[in-house]
Amino acid sequence: MIQLMPGRANHRAEMVSLMSLLEDLQKIIDDRNRVSTSPSELYCYSLDASQIEGMPDVVVRPLSTGEVSKILKLAYHQRVSVTARGAGTGLAGGAVPLKGGIVLDMSAMNRVTEVDVANLQAEVEPGLVRDDFNEALKPYGFFFPPDPGSSAMCTIGGMIANNASGMRCVKYGTTRAYVLDLEVVLADGTVINTGSRVLKSSAGYDLTRLMTGSEGTLGVITRAKLKIAPLPKARRLILTAFSSAEEAGRAVVRVLSSGIAPSACEILDRTTISVLKQCDKRLVLPDGDVVLFEVDGTEASTEEEVKGIAEACSPTAISITMAQSQMAMEDMWAARKLVGASISRLQPEKSRVYVGEDVGVPIKRIPEIIEKVQEISDDVGLPVMKFGHVGDGNLHVALFIDVTKRDQRDKLMEAADRIHVAALDLGGTVASEHGIGKARAQYMRRQHGPALDVMRAIKRALDPIGILNPGKLDLESE
Ligand SMILES: Cc1cc2nc3c(=O)[nH]c(=O)nc-3n(C[C@H](O)[C@H](O)[C@H](O)COP(=O)(O)OP(=O)(O)OC[C@H]3O[C@@H](n4cnc5c(N)ncnc54)[C@H](O)[C@@H]3O)c2cc1C
Repeated sequence: MIQLMPGRANHRAEMVSLMSLLEDLQKIIDDRNRVSTSPSELYCYSLDASQIEGMPDVVVRPLSTGEVSKILKLAYHQRVSVTARGAGTGLAGGAVPLKGGIVLDMSAMNRVTEVDVANLQAEVEPGLVRDDFNEALKPYGFFFPPDPGSSAMCTIGGMIANNASGMRCVKYGTTRAYVLDLEVVLADGTVINTGSRVLKSSAGYDLTRLMTGSEGTLGVITRAKLKIAPLPKARRLILTAFSSAEEAGRAVVRVLSSGIAPSACEILDRTTISVLKQCDKRLVLPDGDVVLFEVDGTEASTEEEVKGIAEACSPTAISITMAQSQMAMEDMWAARKLVGASISRLQPEKSRVYVGEDVGVPIKRIPEIIEKVQEISDDVGLPVMKFGHVGDGNLHVALFIDVTKRDQRDKLMEAADRIHVAALDLGGTVASEHGIGKARAQYMRRQHGPALDVMRAIKRALDPIGILNPGKLDLESE
């Protein structure tokens, strides 16, 4: 049922009945297909790509900022929780309505409203799927660089709310680097703009950066002006293989500290390589623990960078190979995007559970986190696959278990906890790009110390009765 907000639940008289809420919502949205309480639909909105669950009371699919504003005004006055949702590909329970209430499915607000090449930007609605955005930019010779593995499904709103990144962020930066202005509906229905069209501004607090990565806890994003980048003229891909994942990690540190800025730098340990080989038999892959480097720019600059990478890797590499064609490169990237989901090919009775999957450390400490993760998985006795955007210190850890076995689930949680703590001990983060949501909320104090109290104060200032995505990021005071 619809829940009262934490700390306000004392007065039964404040309880809002679902029927009266529905009636009010239908006055705002006069289309039964866009307001649903059907149990089967609610179930679909009770999950994201994590293991976390929470059932909404009602799902609403707005089409405009005006509708979002009216819905939030209503929810604010009736003290009903509101959780914004993009495509639900989040891996931390971010879009799961832990306290019930309204789920705002933003996926129907999915237009590119402007491409303004002269100003190096475009304006989009939040439900736009990331790859659809890039299809729309292609004819202009531009692109939006942040590229999560989920880019064929995830929305721009979800990417901004999670400050998502991906393969090419080692050179191009995360989503945050591209957000110029957000139209945001605050908890009480007020609509604000956080920035403008200008590429830089030093006028006042940077609310754009505050909203980016706030996981729907401070406002609902209804429009975004985003920087776009010219498509590079040339790209090359090199596969370098090593005798161990730690050795591969050390090569990454050497390449990056030699001044080369690859456009992608992905580690694929030997287990990952065997999964890829099973996924796509056409792929030509080396044996060993592999680092895939991509460089982009002009023909001349990419040639020079390829040479530099080969030089930095050759003292320890067991092989260095170049993708021989555009098609070989595209096949490699398509396969790389499948890795996380394909792991069960290795042992079909086991599934990957997304916990402890997104740690990040300073670049110099990459070899140590790789070693530590292997040590933890050996110690706990669970198989592990290590891959990810290691060029920016981000290691994805895929632990896989038989989910029907209680002891394996216990081991999994122990391993995930030790991996999170190891990353923090190395000066890192428990979430490089997948966000905190509910899954990692217990590490907020440990990672942020007293800064968590500042975050809580900001939350109280912008959402005083806590209706926006409650239960996430450990924002409710102890
Ligand atoms: C196979 C796979 C691979 C992945 N690879 C990557 C990767 O390489 N890099 C990466 O960063 N992530 C990755 N992810 C995680 C996920 O896809 C990203 O975090 C993505 O940005 C989530 O987008 P979404 O539209 O699915 O958001 P959702 O899961 O629907 O929501 C995510 C968060 O955003 C909030 N939100 C959504 N829309 C709005 C809005 N309009 N206003 C305010 N808040 C909003 C939600 O409340 C929630 O807190 C991967 C996931 C999968 C399943």
